[in-house]
Amino acid sequence: MAVVFSDRSTDASMPSDTLTPLRFTPIFRTALWGGSKLRTLFHAPPSDDPTGEAWVLSDQGENSSVVAEGRLAGARLRELIQQMPERILGRASFVNGRFPLLLKFLHIRRPLSVQVHPNDAKAREFEGPLASGKTEAWYIVEADPTASLYCGLHAGVTPVQMRRAIEANRLEELLDTHRPECGDCFLLPAGTVHALCDGLLVFEVQQTSDITYRLYDWGRVDPKTGKPRELHIEKGLACVNYSQGPCRPICPTDEGHGRVRLTPLVECAYFTLGRWDAASPFRAGEAGQCRMIVGVEGRATLRHGGKEYGLGVGDTWLLPAEVGACEVVPQGPVVILECSLV
Ligand SMILES: [Zn+2]
Repeated sequence: MAVVFSDRSTDASMPSDTLTPLRFTPIFRTALWGGSKLRTLFHAPPSDDPTGEAWVLSDQGENSSVVAEGRLAGARLRELIQQMPERILGRASFVNGRFPLLLKFLHIRRPLSVQVHPNDAKAREFEGPLASGKTEAWYIVEADPTASLYCGLHAGVTPVQMRRAIEANRLEELLDTHRPECGDCFLLPAGTVHALCDGLLVFEVQQTSDITYRLYDWGRVDPKTGKPRELHIEKGLACVNYSQGPCRPICPTDEGHGRVRLTPLVECAYFTLGRWDAASPFRAGEAGQCRMIVGVEGRATLRHGGKEYGLGVGDTWLLPAEVGACEVVPQGPVVILECSLV
């Protein structure tokens, strides 16, 4: 479908085809471990089924995000990057014709399966030449006092020990456990064994990929089918990085107590993630680069081209390369994440 620019813009200072910050309609995913918080957060009608994920920016498979508002409302992210790749991506490139990152929020009320994602080579080996691996990062937006997560194996765990522990229903004994707190960030390179457990609202950025190998599902039965969910033990064990050991949370250092602070959290081969702490206006984004701005605490306004865009918890704005930097005006203290393509 061709993208049609309507001329609904009333701002005479902006040419009618100038790009603006783009927000997409969340794509909700049902999951037995989810709840109702995401539908409330994104002002969506309630559902009888628990909602585990809200994909706020996606070009995965059939789930390419749709622009929620503005002149490009209704256009799909995939159409936009195919029709104007440089205006949106700048110097960054597609991966297999797709936007390379997937951004989502997760609400976890019950433990997810213990799982692992392949790296790019293993993804192609197991799922075909167009498959991508999945390196991901988590930012903890909310955590109940009882919340927990598993992230990485204890040092020295072997494939034989893994297999025995899965057979004995005791895999959790080999995993590193954390009591996460709001603001913790974890980088999970592909091959990290992990599970988010309970009482968590998490922002996640990952490679555009939906390949998950379940190693262990706590002996649960899916109420919809009356059967355990499928496990992928052989593929999963082949993808585990046994030499990696536990993942530690990345905590912002307390240096620099200015009113605006940018802390780098993650730099990996696929994305970077930085955290803004601010109570006064600052400029986010970078001229000529595609960036994503995500509200995780407090409220702010994004300003660009004489227009204002709301930036509360959950709001995710894609800044096309053509848009570049924007002014962010906090309404009190805010925490805002900025994500870039590599
Ligand atoms: Zn994962």
